[in-house]
Amino acid sequence: MSCVSVVPHGSALSRVGVVGGGQLARLLGEAERPGITVTVLAGADEPATATCDEVVVGDARDDAALRTLAERVDVITFDHELVDLEQLARLEAEGVLLRPGPGALRAAVDKSYQRRLFADAGLPLPRFVVVDSPRDAGLTTFLDTVDAAPVVKAARGGYDGRGVVFSTGRDDARAAVERFGASVVVEESLTLRGEVAQLLVRGADGDVVTYPLVTTVQRDGQCAEVRYPCDTGHDDEAAALAVRIAELVDAVGVLAVELFVTDAGLLINEVALRPHNTGHWTIEGARTSQFANHLAAVTGRPLGPTTPTAAHVVMVNVTGGPQPPPPGWSRTAPRTGVAIHDYAKAWRPERKIGHVTAWGDDAAATRVRAWREARRAGTASWEDE
Ligand code: ADP
Repeated sequence: MSCVSVVPHGSALSRVGVVGGGQLARLLGEAERPGITVTVLAGADEPATATCDEVVVGDARDDAALRTLAERVDVITFDHELVDLEQLARLEAEGVLLRPGPGALRAAVDKSYQRRLFADAGLPLPRFVVVDSPRDAGLTTFLDTVDAAPVVKAARGGYDGRGVVFSTGRDDARAAVERFGASVVVEESLTLRGEVAQLLVRGADGDVVTYPLVTTVQRDGQCAEVRYPCDTGHDDEAAALAVRIAELVDAVGVLAVELFVTDAGLLINEVALRPHNTGHWTIEGARTSQFANHLAAVTGRPLGPTTPTAAHVVMVNVTGGPQPPPPGWSRTAPRTGVAIHDYAKAWRPERKIGHVTAWGDDAAATRVRAWREARRAGTASWEDE
């Protein structure tokens, strides 16, 4: 229910290729996209194959498949970070249009590069060190400076908390570094007052729109719930940080910045250069969804307004419970002010299989509506009712 259409104009591109066929590409395919076709590079039965116009069957790092995709589209974008940056740089050098480009993507793909880049730019981060081995002298020095057992993060390939270890102490931290191999990020464990996410969209011409800041609730390293409006303040600071990051990395399309709220203010946790789980609420909750705006950005169209459509919007991820969800869970006529999105993924306990968005005038009632639908599908109840 994105209300604002993307208006084609002048030299806008029309054929978008997406590397990846997961739920983000599926939702991108569902977005209002007049005049834009979407072709995904995906496995034959991935979620996005049902909503896009065309499929190139293959892997994100298969050179032949990537080249077939490039021949069929005007611009290529991404729904995940499991890409080969060197391979993408070669394609770009040959004239394939990638938005975002591999230089920008590196900040999302490689956590150690991201941390160093942001630290050099003076952006606020948790205290960290990048090490290649548990025997690095730098690690010992760092461990001497942090009070609590540190958090250890793999440089690449982590998502939904995988690739993140909350160590129990120095030895455990060292063991995690050994397991993760090279360029491991070791950072201080913070006392969080909360977590928030700032979504921004940057056009190919550098034009920027920001969405309102949202509160995010994480459980077991996974995003469980997103709430608009944000209840922690810091709105202007978060938007300004996201704009600085977007310009620093030369982002095109959606940039999602996940932030820690601490007593010392906002610290950057993570960035993604693609539509993001913390932006799903915009499908019903903002005048232009993150998906419509991502397509607008990568095709060179004007970006749409990001104003919320309701006083309160709550998104809850539907994660598989101990039993499969009841048949037709997502087809039940939803209550007023609730939308259910089924990613058509096979059920597995704790796997994200969809999301629910509720909107309305009352914060508590909106939240209850969202959780009620998510629980009906089997999602464990987390909230403090
Ligand atoms: P992923 O990239 O897999 O989503 P994150 O790095 O975002 O993993 O970490 C997942 C969650 O773990 C965060 O949202 C936060 O709740 C918690 N977390 C991560 N790093 C820290 C830290 N340094 N201090 C406290 N909590 C952290």
